[in-house]
Amino acid sequence: RVVVVGSLNVDATSYVERFPAPGETVTSRAFRTALGGKGANQAVAAHLAGAEVDLVARLGDDANAALALGVLERLGLATAGIGQVADAPTGVAQITVADSGENTVIVTGGANLALDPESLDTERERLASAALVLSQGELPIATIERLVEHCAALGVRLVVNLAPPVAVSAAALAVCDPLVVNEHEARAIGIGAEVAAGAPLDEWRPHAASAVGRVARSVVVTLGAAGAVGASPEGDWAEPAPEVVAVDTTGAGDCFTGTLAAFLAEGRGLAESMRIAVAAGALAVQARGTVDSYAPRATVLAAAAL
Ligand code: ADP
Repeated sequence: RVVVVGSLNVDATSYVERFPAPGETVTSRAFRTALGGKGANQAVAAHLAGAEVDLVARLGDDANAALALGVLERLGLATAGIGQVADAPTGVAQITVADSGENTVIVTGGANLALDPESLDTERERLASAALVLSQGELPIATIERLVEHCAALGVRLVVNLAPPVAVSAAALAVCDPLVVNEHEARAIGIGAEVAAGAPLDEWRPHAASAVGRVARSVVVTLGAAGAVGASPEGDWAEPAPEVVAVDTTGAGDCFTGTLAAFLAEGRGLAESMRIAVAAGALAVQARGTVDSYAPRATVLAAAAL
């Protein structure tokens, strides 16, 4: 079982010709609501990868709460760990996409902020039941640090995707196994700071290796269209992504991380799990949407040639 402790949002996206100026009203060409938040996205990815998933998250007391729960239930995810708080809106990302391809995003944390350190203290049984716990940088820092303490005390493996790269203590990062970051997040925490943008996998690989034991127990750096590198005390690996036509890279990192966590929880090694996660990420960028673009286990395994 994979227990995901993380954010849950409703993404509300307006597609416009151009962004409005202050004080101006523009008409959108189209509008979409979808499940979002890194916690929810990664939970869906792990579920589709075949893991039994328990998502610990918080919803508000509004119509978006029902919308989010509806999506999760249709997908068949457990929702018992999702609490509802009375005095906050469900987390929302108000996204605007212009014809130029640029976007603006306003995030309201809302009910996600109610996932405070104390609320984790009542989740110990759920955490203890996990083969692996997965979290991300979209929670209050104190909550992530409390989660680290619980996992350490319970002896449960913890995977953290430090996105965004919030200032979690070095001691907390040290237990992550693995710590998963993209190129920008890696640089922000001192992994590969001197590597040039667009550098090949082999240039990143030694930086992942040197972060093992220094920054975290094991490390994975995702590098977009290039693929990913990873390292643990057992070795270090570069996993190139297949060349594909990317139509929408939104949520590719979440797909990668959720898939990685699901296969690690099955007992597969980091190298093999990375290979499968790279295949999943490459499939996700070939379809529009976030969780709508995630492929099921059999498709991912076929693409990974496993
Ligand atoms: P994030 O979305 O968090 O910035 P990345 O851009 O590094 O993360 O993408 C995560 C993973 O998704 C990559 O490691 C890769 O497996 C896959 N991926 C992303 N973009 C592409 C692409 N253009 N072609 C193939 N795979 C991709």
